[in-house]
Amino acid sequence: MKITKITFGMLRVPLKTPFKTALRTVERVDDVVVMVHTDTGHVGYGEAPATAVITGDTHGSIVEAIRHYIAPRLIGQDIADLNRITRLIQGAMEKNTSAKAAVEIAVYDLFGQLYGAPLYKMLGGGDPVITTDITISVDYIDKMVADSIAAVDRGFESLKIKVGKDIGLDVERTKAIYAAVQNRALLRLDANQGWTAKQAVYAIQTLEDAGVRLELVEQPVKAQDLEGMRYVTERVHTPIMADESVFGPMEVIELIRMRAADIINIKLMKTGGISNAIRIADIAAMHGIDCMIGCMLETSISVAAAVHVAVAKADVITKVDLDGPSLCAFNPVDGGVIFNESEISITDAPGLGIREIRGLELLAD
Ligand code: MG
Repeated sequence: MKITKITFGMLRVPLKTPFKTALRTVERVDDVVVMVHTDTGHVGYGEAPATAVITGDTHGSIVEAIRHYIAPRLIGQDIADLNRITRLIQGAMEKNTSAKAAVEIAVYDLFGQLYGAPLYKMLGGGDPVITTDITISVDYIDKMVADSIAAVDRGFESLKIKVGKDIGLDVERTKAIYAAVQNRALLRLDANQGWTAKQAVYAIQTLEDAGVRLELVEQPVKAQDLEGMRYVTERVHTPIMADESVFGPMEVIELIRMRAADIINIKLMKTGGISNAIRIADIAAMHGIDCMIGCMLETSISVAAAVHVAVAKADVITKVDLDGPSLCAFNPVDGGVIFNESEISITDAPGLGIREIRGLELLAD
């Protein structure tokens, strides 16, 4: 099974409600779909969103990086040589992690298809059912409380609460949501870099003193501020998770060396795909550090790949934040991963098992 060409499409899906964080507001998923074609007629699928404020990747940069730097190295490569192909992808250029992720996802999809097995089995196997949280966007307190109650009523047992806009209001938001859903759902706060280190310690200690129990607080300070992450981690009881501060394995090693966070959030769009996500999970496991697996605003192509990784590495990836498909107004993909609100399960279909992508707009080669 040899790679013959790589083609592209755009997939646009409206969200049920606007996605609002301290960094941005988004109304719909708007992702590049990558199709890796082979001489046997098998096609592998990958996907990447433009997340300029986090990874720096745009639709244009994703397509150009693949077309001119990654694809030329892969034409003619045999899918059976998976490790060789992932090295070629990762070494094609600096950064551009979303472009690399999209291609790696498609290649791993083909690797599963080659051996007739779902991807998670090729990655070591596991129990093919996981449970995800759902994001509650930052908004007026009443709206956030109502959204939280609605999510719990839909069966979600973990809520990812977006904060980081205004420190005083963030404390009030969190107290109100905790009062409304306590005993029914675990709360994870994501500040998306919105606080200073001192503000973060103040906010978290205030919540701790008020009896609000949080499962974790994610990325309280700026991505580059590892010292600030450590400052917060040292001063609060609540576990601190790094998201935007860590992309690849080298950054994870540095974060662990500094003891700057308690948990690491793995996202395929930050790691550059599956090979480095697995490396990070293994490094974290060696150090006894738990991981979350998360996603950007992605549909059930690239999120399916993250589900397979989560299942295969479930011993260390103990928290799942793969709510992209749940946030979409409809699921455009017919595939091997079934998204049913908080419960996600994998069928026995080979690779990612993608049969159809509705509404895919093909781009010219
Ligand atoms: Mg985050």
